[in-house]
Amino acid sequence: MIEQTFVSLDRDVERITLPLPTGPRHVHCYLVDGTLFDTGLGIGDAPWGALQVSRIAITHFHPDHVGGAAAAADATGAPVHQGRLDYAQCERVWDSGDWPERIARWFRSHGVPPPIANELIEQGHAFAPFIRFAHDPHLLDEDSDLDGWRVVELPGHADGHIGFLRDGVLIGGDHLLHPISPAIGLYPESRPDPLGDYLVSLARTIELAPRLALPGHGKPIENPAGRAAELIEHHRVRLDAAQAALAEEPRSGYDVSLRLFGAELGPTQRRFAVAETLSHLERLVREGRARRTGADGAVTYTA
Ligand SMILES: [Zn+2]
Repeated sequence: MIEQTFVSLDRDVERITLPLPTGPRHVHCYLVDGTLFDTGLGIGDAPWGALQVSRIAITHFHPDHVGGAAAAADATGAPVHQGRLDYAQCERVWDSGDWPERIARWFRSHGVPPPIANELIEQGHAFAPFIRFAHDPHLLDEDSDLDGWRVVELPGHADGHIGFLRDGVLIGGDHLLHPISPAIGLYPESRPDPLGDYLVSLARTIELAPRLALPGHGKPIENPAGRAAELIEHHRVRLDAAQAALAEEPRSGYDVSLRLFGAELGPTQRRFAVAETLSHLERLVREGRARRTGADGAVTYTA
């Protein structure tokens, strides 16, 4: 039932596409000169044993990228390399006994009704054992070198998201996607202004000017700087919409998400919408366009 697609993008780059049960329904891994970038979700069979893999590199700790890392390392004997901050968050989330309770409590503090927030608790405990990331990887930082690939830190979609740059090619994980816009959410125990981080990473991408970005989902991006500029504009418009959704009376992140994303979302999509709304509200606070009130128990925002 697992379908894999191999595509030779050019002489040196092989793309391995694995299915996902949800979301974009697929994730890409790339194999270039013995380096395997990202490992899929780790459910079902993956082709790692049949490939020449000398090292494994992870762009970020989300399940569809890191979940297959232990299996890929076992099948190939190759060492795993992961960003330093990203690995710390990976352990904090996937190795924790009570992360589902912590994140559910945090969503409730942002006004999410208990049934929608608490659904995470059961789901999280059911799901976590399947995320088989590799323990004690080699840690990467800005400017680390991995077989000629330069590591660039690109926080936003995940705090510790990294990309790999060589010969004008950026292995970009979920930093740049097309046509979907990468989710930029605020989460507990994370950096406080992920959208601010992301806008800096996008500006940096324009400066770095890679000729090609190979994303975790969707088609290769032939004009990465142009796509980065589009995403900056997308968030400028969304920031204006978030500001317009605020009023004189305090509103929770959940309440604002109803105005920005409508009332018709299922629980999972609603939680993504709230996290995305909050990253915009926190950016507005830092730009002096909104005010946050309340604390852990009940957080609200006003214009
Ligand atoms: Zn992804």
